[in-house]
Amino acid sequence: MSDEWTGNKGVECPAVKELKLALKMAVPNIWVATIAGEESRHTAGLAMDVMLHSQSPAQKPVADAIIDALVSLAPQIGWYDLIYVDWDIDGMAFGFQMPYLSRDKGTPLEKHRTDAGTTSDHKNHLHIDWWPGKGINKWPATANNSGFSTALANAILANAPSGAARDLFAPRGLFMTGWKEAKWEVTTEAASWIYHFDHDGGVDRRASKTPWKVAERGHWDMDGAKLKLIWKDSVEFWNTPIDPSKQLHGEVRPYQGGLHWLVVKKAK
Ligand SMILES: [Zn+2]
Repeated sequence: MSDEWTGNKGVECPAVKELKLALKMAVPNIWVATIAGEESRHTAGLAMDVMLHSQSPAQKPVADAIIDALVSLAPQIGWYDLIYVDWDIDGMAFGFQMPYLSRDKGTPLEKHRTDAGTTSDHKNHLHIDWWPGKGINKWPATANNSGFSTALANAILANAPSGAARDLFAPRGLFMTGWKEAKWEVTTEAASWIYHFDHDGGVDRRASKTPWKVAERGHWDMDGAKLKLIWKDSVEFWNTPIDPSKQLHGEVRPYQGGLHWLVVKKAK
């Protein structure tokens, strides 16, 4: 999306600010990005990426609740486009664009299937913008909309699965550091490993500081307030919250032999 904007840069429009406020009210741990990238609708202050993964059973329903709320309040909010990924009844992923005030083709407030490139780009985030189209390098009138945050937050909470706003985001930091996939370095007295988590409950690890190459695939789940990882020879528990900026602690319980401690930090 480079070179699509040559107007003022680096300031969020009032509507984007108001949307951010509404999302934080409804879903306090939500992660959003606004001003980013090159000469785009993002640097223009007219767009937001809401980091909710379309393949996460915890995050997708929240994204759907946000979309439903944005549709029901579209006249007050005056957004232009939504871009995201959904699943059809056969379980196939498809990218879609939903126009409202956009000049692009398509029936307003309906999902229009888009190409595979869009599918992969917008799998891990919902994009929303107030971008009026190429060649218009100033904010449209509706970018100055505000005052809708309380109504929008209430609509999101009414649509979201109960508890989603509070609970479902504990493991978010597992997967993503900003837009990058997160990797974790796990050290015990015996070994050091690099871990990588999938949204579907899988986790891969490889030995990082041993002379031999070991790779293994396990499973993760939340077990009360702890993250539980199941491996071939052990079960591991990480204390939460999962905060990539902090060192985490936990324990390894081998199926044979004694318990030992582990330390987790974000890998470079
Ligand atoms: Zn975006």
